[in-house]
Amino acid sequence: MGIVLSAAPFGDDDRILRVLGPQEGKHGVFQRLGRRRPAGLDVGVCANFRLRGRAGGLDTLVDASVVNARVRLRSSYLRLVLAQYGCELMAAFGREGQPEPRLYGLLETWLLVLEAVDEDPTLAAAVALELKTLTFAGVGPALDRCAVCGQPLDETTTLDAGAGGAAHARCRPGRPAPPALLLELDTLRRTPLRDLVDTAVSSEAVETSLELLRAHLGVDLASRALWSAIGPA
Ligand SMILES: [Zn+2]
Repeated sequence: MGIVLSAAPFGDDDRILRVLGPQEGKHGVFQRLGRRRPAGLDVGVCANFRLRGRAGGLDTLVDASVVNARVRLRSSYLRLVLAQYGCELMAAFGREGQPEPRLYGLLETWLLVLEAVDEDPTLAAAVALELKTLTFAGVGPALDRCAVCGQPLDETTTLDAGAGGAAHARCRPGRPAPPALLLELDTLRRTPLRDLVDTAVSSEAVETSLELLRAHLGVDLASRALWSAIGPA
């Protein structure tokens, strides 16, 4: 079983899917289209895949049965973009061919939350998704303890997205980070996604989370720019 993270055309007739499974991790699937094309394998869809292995190449899709088509996501453009963003995050942080039960569970929860809500969620939930993804992928960041000495933070704190997160100013001089901002980020990271759909979030938290992502990815993800352009403040 897996969730489709992306689907890219290949030649005139075929596609290459990126799929995330809990045990299989991230993997590529070659989908031959044409008359016997398994339909409905769009981004975010969860399906059981029957694959034929190919030596030295991508597995080829033989057949697929859709487990959850995520029909409710399509009722709102923002929710569709946010679902796509979750998939793009997992494509960026999931490891190829390694079990990823925590990232898979996070993406599954994210998609379920987006389907369940009646109103579009605030961006607090999306920022929390970013911070949880970084944490589950094992790349921090330190937000409640010093990245240098490991002790609890105090009133004089610095933040360096590329060097593990927050630290005491005495341990690592740098750009000051208000304790209230670190507390907000840490709270978002620890709160279940479903409890954040109507929570307000500061613009500093949105920006800082993006900085932390950039430190690991080097670039902004395409759907990230889209949701910040169309999303609620
Ligand atoms: Zn320290």
